[in-house]
Order: sequence, then structure tokens, then C-alpha cells
Amino acid sequence: MHRLVYISTAKWLFDARELEDLLINAKRNNLRDNVTGMLIYHDGCFFQVLEGPEKAVRDCFQRISKDLRHSGTIVLLDEPAASRQFGGWQMACRTFSGLTSLQKRQFIDLNMLADAVSKGLTMQDAPKTKAVLLAFLSAFRDLDVQAA
Ligand code: FAD
Repeated sequence: MHRLVYISTAKWLFDARELEDLLINAKRNNLRDNVTGMLIYHDGCFFQVLEGPEKAVRDCFQRISKDLRHSGTIVLLDEPAASRQFGGWQMACRTFSGLTSLQKRQFIDLNMLADAVSKGLTMQDAPKTKAVLLAFLSAFRDLDVQAA
């Protein structure tokens, strides 16, 4: 089992319809490939967790990286995982307004983290920031994340 987490910047501000189009395709592919995960969209910024067999996750991320609808992809986490965290969701989606206040605060921290990573900091250099990321992910465990 493998988990990859990244953030990226949308090429334009997505509306609900564009997000829905993206998700329909993503869920279909992810069901086929045994990939699960979660996508958060906020103000032109994507945050996505992909989990599943390592090859399937890497193939999926390779396609996503080439997608012209976004750019500036920054990988925050890319490592083996003991189990799935979003096993029930081909790709759950939330917008910022759907997060709890704790999750919102942690999401802002993640944006700061991404800025640091883009300047050359790695997760190995920053165990505290990795802990923030893992705490953010575990805050979603057992929540009823709705598919958009
Ligand atoms: P098709 O759907 O036939 O797409 C072919 C090409 O058209 C691709 O190059 C695609 O990038 C492009 N494309 C498709 N729709 C649009 C559109 N509306 N506007 C502009 N270009 C378009 N895919 C997954 O499989 N799983 C995911 O979890 C996933 N998450 C994503 C998260 C983000 C933030 C983004 C931007 C994309 C995501 N995608 C995901 C889509 C992924 O980037 C590929 O587009 C998709 O996997 C290709 O699917 P397909 O082989 O069925 O090709």
C-alpha cells in the first residue's frame, strides 16, 4: 500500500461544474485502478491524497501531473502506508467551507508547508511539519466525507 500527497495550483478558479467533471473521471479511473483518496479544493489550490498499490498510485499521479488544468505540483508525502485511510472513497471531495475549524487551521499550515517545500525543504528536514500533515490526514479518519 502506498500513499502520495501533493498540492497544486489550478490554472483558473474552478466552479462546481468543473470540479464535478474532474471528479467523475477521477472516480471512474480510481475504481478501475483500486486507488482511493481525498481531494480538497480551495481558492485555486488543490490538495490531494492518493492511496493504493504503489504502481497504480504512481501511474495516477503521472497522469495528474501532466494535466493542463493545474500546475506547480508539490509532493508533500510519498511513502508506504500500513493501510488505506480513505478506503471507502474513490475520491472524496471537500471545499474549504466544508472543513471543521481545526481542519481549516491545519490546511493553512499545509500551504505554508508547501511554500517551504518549494524552497527546498524536505519532509526529512522537517519532522514537525510532517507531523502537521499526518495530523491533518488523521482528522479525516472516520468522518463522513461526502463525494462532491
Ligand atoms: P480523458 O478523460 O480522456 O482525458 C484526456 C486528456 O484530456 C487528459 O490529458 C486530461 O488531462 C485532459 N482533460 C480531460 N478533461 C479535461 C477538461 N475538462 N479540461 C481540460 N483538460 C481535460 N485522474 C484520476 O484518474 N484520478 C484522480 O484521482 C485524479 N485526480 C485529479 C486531481 C486534479 C487536481 C486534477 C487536475 C486532475 C485529476 N485527475 C485524476 C485527472 C487526470 O489528470 C487525468 O485527466 C485523467 O486521469 C485522465 O483520464 P483518462 O485517461 O480517462 O483521459
